Amino acid sequence: MWCWGFEPRASCMLGTITKANESVLLQAYEFDEVMFWRNAKCPTCDLRKPARSKHCRVCDRCVHRFDHHCIWVNNCIGAWNARYFLIYLSTLTASAATMAIVCAAFLAHLVVVLDLYQETYIDDSGHVQAFDTVFLIQYLFLSFPRIVFLLGFVVVLSFLLAGYLCFMLYLVATNQTTNEWCRGDWACSQHCPLVTRLPPAEAQVYQNIHSHGLWSNLREVFLPVLPCSEKKTQ
Ligand SMILES: [Zn+2]
Ligand SMILES: [Zn+2]
Repeated sequence: MWCWGFEPRASCMLGTITKANESVLLQAYEFDEVMFWRNAKCPTCDLRKPARSKHCRVCDRCVHRFDHHCIWVNNCIGAWNARYFLIYLSTLTASAATMAIVCAAFLAHLVVVLDLYQETYIDDSGHVQAFDTVFLIQYLFLSFPRIVFLLGFVVVLSFLLAGYLCFMLYLVATNQTTNEWCRGDWACSQHCPLVTRLPPAEAQVYQNIHSHGLWSNLREVFLPVLPCSEKKTQ
């Protein structure tokens, strides 16, 4: 089935659909006839749209297994670079978490070295009070504002990145793209004309037809079949 009859090109590695690879990519995935129709055509590229593909308005091209257009890498995330995007996201999350740990360890070291928990202060009513946690945080913020601010920033960033990474891994494990996940939610809403045209029973049973088990789904993203490399090896 996967007979790659076109020349290796950079566009191919990016998952761009062209006249040369259109017929091959049309066979890559089944059409569900709900999100992706067999005879759909991209009016901009004038190409038949393979299942799971989408035209990116920013890049002005149709992308195979389109996930989303990432503004941070200024590129589309599609069939053959999704794994690099996941590695990139993992390294970003690890970097932010490492920075948070380093900042927290530095502040904790200061507290221990300076024996801040043993210190006292005089409150507004003139009573001597021991340093509690809230006062300690205030003290550290006033003494080392940049480090405390950096710690707060990287902690928030770590949680955001980790959440997004978990979401992307969930999509990989269930063989969905961000585009399909968003459109799936939309299609399942009662306002969707696609669904409301269907009988109620059929509208309720729409499901992801591309998932073939966890390992198969992981392999599809992390060890994708690359048409260009297959051509090279022939
Ligand atoms: Zn297009
Ligand atoms: Zn794009």
